[in-house]
Amino acid sequence: MDGLPTQQSEEEELISIDPADGSEVARVRCTTRSELDQMVATAQTALENSGWKRLLPHRRAAILHKIADGIQREKDTLARLQMRDNGKPLAECKAMAESAIGTFRYYASVCETMETDVTPPRSEYVSLTVLEPYGLVACITPWNSPLMNDATKAAPAIAAGNAVLLKPSEDSPLLAPELARICREAGLPAGLLQVVQGRGRDIGAALVAHPGVRMISFTGGTHTGRAIAKVAAERLVPAALELGGKSPHAVFADADIDSAVAAVVAGIFGSAGQSCVAGSRLFVERRIYREFVDRVVKRTERLRVGMPSEPTTEVGPLASFHHRERIKRFVEMAKAEGGRILCGGHAPVGGVYDRGAFYMPTVIEGLDYRARACQEEAFGPVLVALPFEDEADLIMQGNGTAFGLACGIWTENFKRAWRVGRALEAGSVWINCYKISVTSSPFGGFKDSSLGREKGLGGYRLYSQVKSIFFGLQDQPMSVTR
Ligand code: NAD
Repeated sequence: MDGLPTQQSEEEELISIDPADGSEVARVRCTTRSELDQMVATAQTALENSGWKRLLPHRRAAILHKIADGIQREKDTLARLQMRDNGKPLAECKAMAESAIGTFRYYASVCETMETDVTPPRSEYVSLTVLEPYGLVACITPWNSPLMNDATKAAPAIAAGNAVLLKPSEDSPLLAPELARICREAGLPAGLLQVVQGRGRDIGAALVAHPGVRMISFTGGTHTGRAIAKVAAERLVPAALELGGKSPHAVFADADIDSAVAAVVAGIFGSAGQSCVAGSRLFVERRIYREFVDRVVKRTERLRVGMPSEPTTEVGPLASFHHRERIKRFVEMAKAEGGRILCGGHAPVGGVYDRGAFYMPTVIEGLDYRARACQEEAFGPVLVALPFEDEADLIMQGNGTAFGLACGIWTENFKRAWRVGRALEAGSVWINCYKISVTSSPFGGFKDSSLGREKGLGGYRLYSQVKSIFFGLQDQPMSVTR
């Protein structure tokens, strides 16, 4: 790490570094423990005094729509800020802002329709099931898509009537304060969405352990999720966890090959591979393996790697210089395990490349599916290619990791697509497509990839407690034996 631009200073300050050129974008002061106590108290007072949790859902919905309007108005500025904060190409940052807008609008309409269920009246009682907020929710997000991840948690949490302490990653701290400002300007009562800044092991750990926090929603690495789950178990508070992945992208010989090649490349190298659902393990039916992988390599070599501000750029830099070091180590590990580099496998040199955290899109083959490079998440532009013999072999290898976030299947045989889609252990299955995501569809994974589901109607219930209320209508006094 010597000589590399760093994202953190020794003091209580985070420094946002533009990974495209190493320049400093902004400094952010870390939240101290006593400030955290103060923020918890402020949120609790705001919950009581603002009447937010008792506000009629359509009034909460109106504010959520105004937040969406606010993001819409500032979409371009927010996209540019995210581009500098974490290096994603501008077009992708704009798409993430659109996703955040859609999320606030979706949960605005959900909170108008979800609050109460009435069970059909009986002669002795009528009952209502109502959803109530937990109170104060901690939302902790990673660095890869800050605005989108922040919105995915904050929108349903506040729609359901909670107050939120939002902790963005120390590696991308700049978008969360903007979202909090837009929420305030849209009329969200002060104190209901506050931002906690700092390192995970320090203020993040203090946040999840804080007795004022009644629910935890976390997106990040599996290792961190496990640590948070232990604290949540000890405190007996619910923890929703969205974690890592090593998703299989499978291609059968009967697939629409042109479309499959394009999707495989987009599925791993979009966002420079820094996506939890990246299709990082390519499985190809053996009889087309060589031809298909050669085509993937050719297309990968043509990807335009460059400055995220250039409209023609397809792959920007990695989000930080230290993350690039991780990717270099990952590729070295794959080589040591016997992996053959078909393309990439190094940082580009010369011109703009010398100042940024760039890494060439990399395709590796020759590994056993049990190799570490096929088991561990790189979270970068690294694809491992493996052949499979038949459906059973694909399912065995595809399910042969601890993860289960997503998978892609390319075949023209619909019955087979259905069988394989049901057999693969994954929360999202994409058949003849990849990485489609809509707010109304639940999102999450199997096994070590997730605990709970975000998005969809369940994404609202995640931030709600259920209460059953019974009104007695009986004419007779209750008997002991009923
Ligand atoms: P990370 O686990 O290092 O950090 C995530 C967040 O947790 C950060 O805000 C960090 O400060 C905080 N944190 C770290 N230690 C903590 C602790 N002990 N207590 C409380 N908070 C703590 O993850 P990352 O490197 O920021 O993100 C990459 C990971 O996120 C990858 O594994 C990726 O797959 C995953 N991810 C998952 C999804 C999903 O929806 N499943 C989406 C995006 C990213």
